Amino acid sequence: MQGSAVHYAVECYELSGRTLSTSQTIARYREKWDADMAAGLAVQPDVSKWRTGGFKSGTKDLADRYDLGEHQVADYVSYTETSTDTIWTTPDGRLAIELQFDIMVGTVPVRGFIDQIVSTAYGLSVRDVKTGTKKQSSALQLALYRRAIWETYRIDVIWGDFFTCARKGRSPRAGGPTDPIDLTTIDQHWLEQQYAAMDAAERNGVYLANPGDHCTVCGVQKFCKAKGN
Ligand code: SF4
Repeated sequence: MQGSAVHYAVECYELSGRTLSTSQTIARYREKWDADMAAGLAVQPDVSKWRTGGFKSGTKDLADRYDLGEHQVADYVSYTETSTDTIWTTPDGRLAIELQFDIMVGTVPVRGFIDQIVSTAYGLSVRDVKTGTKKQSSALQLALYRRAIWETYRIDVIWGDFFTCARKGRSPRAGGPTDPIDLTTIDQHWLEQQYAAMDAAERNGVYLANPGDHCTVCGVQKFCKAKGN
């Protein structure tokens, strides 16, 4: 909820041509939060039963995340006031923010949304905005976005990065992009093979249990045999 509200506020801010003030952008964040909160409460009115991914109570986690998201939105606006990065406009006139694509990756149709494509001092970069603390384990997501822009516009965006939103708490820090990642190191033919393998597995009902840290935020854990349920 925090992540999607931050993304929504950032999208509104960028689509306004960065004319929204910080308080107007935060107001967009609050609108999205309130709508998602209402939807969540309609499903489970008891927030003590909401999954928090840690030891906090639902009420405390909600309060902390609401506050953190607001901070991340304000910090994003300040970042854009000093950075020379700007949102790219596609050849068909779309501002490259939450940019939808529908492409074929080899034999597999793929639909997705790219958070941002930015014009930087070193060229275009596909950018994914991260509101959580998890370190990204690979740039595969960005390599897919490179492919999407190539398939759609025949423009090769060779750089990608993750925009890590601001943190509060014991180790506060401002938000900003990671160093640029060279997306040409991820082989596109291999990517096609991975999508073909995933597609074949899905069509044949091959679902191998993969228990790990992510189980704590898994929506089907209570039905999962790997967890003894
Ligand atoms: S709880 Fe089961 S289904 Fe969910 S992530 Fe863990 S192993 Fe996978």
